[in-house]
Amino acid sequence: MISRRISAALLVLAIVVAAANGRAFGNCEDYCLPGARCWPTHEDIVQFNESTKGRANKRVRVVVGGSSHTVTIGGYTQGGGHSPIGRKFGLGVDNLLDVELVSANGSLAHADKDGTTVTDTVTGLQSHSSNPDIFWAVRGGGGSTFGIITSLTFKLHFDSKMVMILCSTPIFDEQGRNIGQNFMDSFNQLLTTSLAPEWGGYELIRVNQGETQGNVILFLNHYGEWGSPSFNTISPVLPTFSQHCLFYNVSNFLEYAVNANDSLYYRTYIFNRLLQRDSFTPRFYNYLFNMVTDPNRKSFLLCTGVLVGGNINHVSSDETPMNPSFRTAFVSMTCALSWHDPSRDEEMISHAENVTKGFLQFGKGIFFNEPSVYQPDWKTAYWGVHYGRLLAIKREWDPDNILTCHHCVGSDLVKGANFYDNPLSSNGLPIVG
Ligand SMILES: Cc1cc2nc3c(=O)[nH]c(=O)nc-3n(C[C@H](O)[C@H](O)[C@H](O)COP(=O)(O)OP(=O)(O)OC[C@H]3O[C@@H](n4cnc5c(N)ncnc54)[C@H](O)[C@@H]3O)c2cc1C
Repeated sequence: MISRRISAALLVLAIVVAAANGRAFGNCEDYCLPGARCWPTHEDIVQFNESTKGRANKRVRVVVGGSSHTVTIGGYTQGGGHSPIGRKFGLGVDNLLDVELVSANGSLAHADKDGTTVTDTVTGLQSHSSNPDIFWAVRGGGGSTFGIITSLTFKLHFDSKMVMILCSTPIFDEQGRNIGQNFMDSFNQLLTTSLAPEWGGYELIRVNQGETQGNVILFLNHYGEWGSPSFNTISPVLPTFSQHCLFYNVSNFLEYAVNANDSLYYRTYIFNRLLQRDSFTPRFYNYLFNMVTDPNRKSFLLCTGVLVGGNINHVSSDETPMNPSFRTAFVSMTCALSWHDPSRDEEMISHAENVTKGFLQFGKGIFFNEPSVYQPDWKTAYWGVHYGRLLAIKREWDPDNILTCHHCVGSDLVKGANFYDNPLSSNGLPIVG
């Protein structure tokens, strides 16, 4: 398939896992989700599987998780995982405590930052090493590559009251001035300097097919109550924003997450860029707003900037295989061009590729979870300097390159005796699997 489907809103938020209000984790029935396994001794941990997603009781803690009800934990986590509460708690992978996976040779591995235990599923023999490579690799090295993950354990966080702000302004005012750009720029200046990590959410720019007038939208969430010191870091923009904004309180993150909507568009081409502080130049805004308001653009267009930075940027760039540019980024912007008619695929993809090329002049690095499928320099774009180590781990854990997918570690290499030394020359799709 030449395109990916993406939600219009991209606003559905984190996976919420129910847990105890109190401290003891003894009786799972009382406070965990069906299917969850609990440890009596770990007050901040609950292990969950796919069946727990989205189901919660009223006493909640949260785990950093993916946007949209269609996103599941397997791909989300192995791609890194951003979230509306990521600025506060880090990426999905920053919250991963351990992983269990079936490796390409059928053995079962359990890994965390202190090492790896491998069980031969035929003989039952176990071996342990203090090598944490596989745990490192799955925290951003991509799905379908290092093993089939059967279990992930995440850190839980206490849930909190939240304040939501929804702001929307037309791009152009009645005199034809681009007020949307000023609106976005003033918010980004705050975001890249002094906005507290308790603030997360999205900045969006959208325009319908056949139109040049669109909207700039801010959908912000503050993890904590109105008037707290972290809340007040939004103050510099409030006087300007208040005429365009609605404010409301939610009693916890679960309420926020379950009320988010998904909607699927038709045929969609997406592309992503990680934007750092120095990306937000007048040239960048000119490009973005010209792209959006271009009268020749024959598609719906939505760019969703997920707010990153905050505590995500306090994690060392070598801690996970994510592109180090993620740790200096403030926005992960994913744009989607959508159209209805399949006969327009070729025209639209060619148009989208041109737009993407221009867009990639700004920022550094690409988020593995939301790229263009045609990204030419994908190894560097997704992982930067970490690609070499990822490939070495892939070689060790899957020497026959059995596990693969499009633009994944080792996917450009030919299967066979020396497959790791022989890049494919034609369309880049791996001859494996
Ligand atoms: C509407 C929408 C909203 C999104 N919002 C966000 C967001 O807020 N934050 C974010 O970070 N990303 C977001 N994404 C991107 C999303 O994280 C990726 O599309 C991700 O690949 C989805 O994972 P999946 O498991 O649902 O998909 P799948 O297509 O099922 O899996 C993706 C890849 O991972 C592999 N995989 C899945 N499970 C396992 C497993 N258990 N073991 C080994 N390999 C596995 C699959 O084989 C496949 O190669 C969004 C995507 C969409 C379409």
